[in-house]
Amino acid sequence: MKYVDEFRDPEKAKSLIREITRISDELSEDLKRPVYIMEVCGGHTHSIFRYGIENMLPASLELIHGPGCPVCVLPMGRVDDCVAIAEQKDTIMTTFGDAMRVPGSKRSLLQAKALGADVRMVYSPLDALSIAKKHPDKEVVFFGLGFETTMPSTALTVLKAEAEGIRNFSLFCNHITIIPTIKAVLDSPDLQLDGFLGPGHVSMVIGNQPYGFIAEHYQRPVVVSGFEPLDILQSLWMVLKQLHVGEARIENQYNRVVPEHGNRMALEAISKVFELRPFFEWRGLGSIDNSGVQLNQQYAAFDAEKKFSLPSVTIADPKSCQCGEVLKGAIKPWQCKVYGKACTPETPLGALMVSSEGACAAYYQYGGAPKDSIKIHQLEETSL
Ligand code: SF4
Repeated sequence: MKYVDEFRDPEKAKSLIREITRISDELSEDLKRPVYIMEVCGGHTHSIFRYGIENMLPASLELIHGPGCPVCVLPMGRVDDCVAIAEQKDTIMTTFGDAMRVPGSKRSLLQAKALGADVRMVYSPLDALSIAKKHPDKEVVFFGLGFETTMPSTALTVLKAEAEGIRNFSLFCNHITIIPTIKAVLDSPDLQLDGFLGPGHVSMVIGNQPYGFIAEHYQRPVVVSGFEPLDILQSLWMVLKQLHVGEARIENQYNRVVPEHGNRMALEAISKVFELRPFFEWRGLGSIDNSGVQLNQQYAAFDAEKKFSLPSVTIADPKSCQCGEVLKGAIKPWQCKVYGKACTPETPLGALMVSSEGACAAYYQYGGAPKDSIKIHQLEETSL
């Protein structure tokens, strides 16, 4: 297929849904429960609600929305640290739009900006570097976050800052890694998962091989998936086919974009600049070993955590907030007590309502509702 319309073809979608329903119903009858497949990536969660995919699936197949939205898993304490940096004199804090709205325990970056802090939205870390060049009298900090997808551009910016001798630029690093996270999800006693849709964008950088342990040690199939409706439906069908014949392999549905061994240059930039942190705190998932990165010793001069003194306090989420349960797939967003009431995209209580890739925001934006309340197989009436 060549054009985007072809990835949204209703006839092909219908035939995939028929096959998905047939295999899933059979599997579910044997299991005596629905088949549980987790889409790890927030981009998939967004597409699933945007195109109404969840409502087309049979009751025998349940999608669990995983922790792959980096904005959503950022704990409040890290946001507080970032706000503390932004509020220091002669400092310019820069970051992506979504990150400005993540609630801290007292305020978000956007609220800090309203109170007078110099917080600027950028489209890439290179924009932050340009701001640093224009304002040599200020400390310019880039609040970097994201999985391996965004890590290379941050790493290359640090390399460029070093090459050009720009010393008033630093990184508040909140980059996280996907593999330890999937392992933590698999080891979680509250979760029952039969297979995974692997993230497409992260895999573009790391390739398919790092997922091998999921098939080998946990005997769960993984299909790395694209983001269009037919990508997702085909990937679900591929996971189900493996389950049906008792296989657990890593397959690459998104091979038009994802190379088997990843992107060598991006991986080199990451390994040159970053090292693993012993542990990193995740909202709702707790501390996960080796799940975050920091600048290594060679680039410590660009590390905002070394340049600024930070409160670094662990802050619990508000009691009414059930982000952790949603992130682990234990409840659906609409089952959270404050969903759509105290917590909306305009007034997010939890981070899952902030980013368009957050499960709660996606449910809210596209009118997600309990599957039982919607008749399935109404393809003509969906947005496909
Ligand atoms: S509705 Fe708000 S508080 Fe509840 S889980 Fe979603 S983001 Fe968190």
